[in-house]
Amino acid sequence: MVLIVQKYGGTSVGTTERIRAVAKRVQETVDRGNRVVVVVSAMGKSTDALVNLARDISQNPSRREMDMLLSTGEQVTIALMSMALQELGQPAISLTGAQVGIVTEASHSRARILQIKTDRIIKHLDRSEVVVVAGFQGISSSSDLEITTLGRGGSDTSAVALAASLGASSCEIYTDVPGILTTDPRIVPDARLMPEITCDEMLELASVGAKVLHPRAVEIARNYGVPLVVRSSFDESPGTRVTSAIPTPRSLLSLEITKVVDGIKFDSNQAKVALLRVPDRPGVATRLFGEIARQKVDVDLIIQSIHEGNTNDIAFTVERSQLQAAEAVTEAIAPVLRSNPGAPDEAEVMVERNIAKVAIAGAGTIGRPGIAAKMFKTLADANINIQMISTSEVQVSCAIDADLCDKAIASLCDAFEIDSSPVKYDANLTGVNDTSARGVALDRDLARLAILGISDRPGMAAKIFGALAEHHVSVDTIIQSQRCRIVNGIPTRDIAFTVPRSDGVGAKKALENLAAEIGYREILLDSEIAKVSIVGAGMVGQPGVAARFFGAIAAAQINIQMITTSEIKISCVVAKEDGVTALKAIHSAFGLAQIKAIA
Ligand code: ADP
Ligand code: ASP
Ligand code: MG
Repeated sequence: MVLIVQKYGGTSVGTTERIRAVAKRVQETVDRGNRVVVVVSAMGKSTDALVNLARDISQNPSRREMDMLLSTGEQVTIALMSMALQELGQPAISLTGAQVGIVTEASHSRARILQIKTDRIIKHLDRSEVVVVAGFQGISSSSDLEITTLGRGGSDTSAVALAASLGASSCEIYTDVPGILTTDPRIVPDARLMPEITCDEMLELASVGAKVLHPRAVEIARNYGVPLVVRSSFDESPGTRVTSAIPTPRSLLSLEITKVVDGIKFDSNQAKVALLRVPDRPGVATRLFGEIARQKVDVDLIIQSIHEGNTNDIAFTVERSQLQAAEAVTEAIAPVLRSNPGAPDEAEVMVERNIAKVAIAGAGTIGRPGIAAKMFKTLADANINIQMISTSEVQVSCAIDADLCDKAIASLCDAFEIDSSPVKYDANLTGVNDTSARGVALDRDLARLAILGISDRPGMAAKIFGALAEHHVSVDTIIQSQRCRIVNGIPTRDIAFTVPRSDGVGAKKALENLAAEIGYREILLDSEIAKVSIVGAGMVGQPGVAARFFGAIAAAQINIQMITTSEIKISCVVAKEDGVTALKAIHSAFGLAQIKAIA
């Protein structure tokens, strides 16, 4: 007999009628000869309603009491679902997270799962009962047995963690859309269904705004090789399979706090080109990368820093053998981009021949703020200055001086306890033949922080991101300016990054407390931003992809505030009001829309 875990989200169980419909579907799965564990969310928008109740009472409710409150939502659904199954003559029992033994860390409102005890579930399954489990909640491992929740959207994570712990043959996530689409169909109605997506791609999409799956659920599926499907609970269509390579076996203890970094990657054959002081107006990035693509130069990392005055810096890395071509194109285009022809200090090209890229690889680096901070600290302790930073959900990469590459690798292997040999970057290693873009996403819940005038020496990134990690602030899109400004004889740089909007003010305060140590000039917080991203393994590095992305944004007359890329995605920060237009423009430029039948 095959064991299946099915998870039904809020809209799928929003009314008693829907609960009855789902119960029928569950019973049909049992009738086909399967054992079924059902995980449910709170009904409809009832978690939001509970949050609003709390807000009526307190602007700053304690996280413990919030967990106590929000966990009630799921408890309502499990009882009703179990009753609905029993009404159909299907034996069933409902269990809360605590009753199952979904043991988590004690940190309220964002607890990670440590272990799931399976004996009670198996006992009921052996009695031919369907077990209905409350998603999103657990019980702390401390002696106080506190009720915890996993973070908004966390029922997906409960379901995949149960599937991994029970060795289920599949985990099916039922929701209100036909599966994973090329983007959010609520914003772009002609988004197309993807029959399949890799865990790495989905992890990236989920973390840049595609909230159809909780990123931590994808991470568990990837780490334990759980076959995962996202489908509609409203019809029988097959949905989207989220695929993963066969994972290296790992223990089910410390389930969600397992070793995050599973390898080091490097490429000591890179060079960097920076174009300084380009005008801050739409169309600049597309002209530069359009020309570079025409010359068939593959760009690797691209960053554009925050603007200072009315100019930006754009920097990118290429294979060293392509440096000459890349430099020539950039030199040729620089004068054209001058906002003020003849101004001597404008649009300058800066080249560094000897760059290495070193990266820590593994799922879930963004959700764990301490990991990037630890990488920066490790490099700082080895006295290595970081020139560029690129973060993604599956990797944090730093560009450094190529002569220091071996030293960096040795320190990182030591710090992250990596015994396997470091891997040379190779696009073919991803095992993905499909080099096309998969999906685009918009994140409107971000704020941008910029720290201006930090002294340019090793250890600054480590201090900043270490302090933020201590405050549990997850950071992404980290960008350092290319230009060094000499202030009182000390070279200084700017560093900018995005954080969840709700963390903006707290993060700024935490950094202000560091003033004495990092001696910056000013910290700016901007909440009026949005981030648009395109994801696809094997897509980036293809000549022309970046140009097409920037071209679509320029054609919509939208100014790009920040750019960051990784091997698997390109992200741009734009003004908040431009977010939806930018998303639609990119979706259409990459041909991701549904092909309409010709009438
Ligand atoms: P559930 O209550 O079932 O957990 P969610 O609201 O958490 O449902 O997730 C489903 C929603 O995710 C969809 O209604 C859709 O608006 C949104 N969404 C965002 N990006 C995507 C995407 N790429 N594909 C499908 N749905 C998406
Ligand atoms: N009910 C919780 C929420 O709304 C968990 C979930 O639905 O996944 O965030
Ligand atoms: Mg959800």
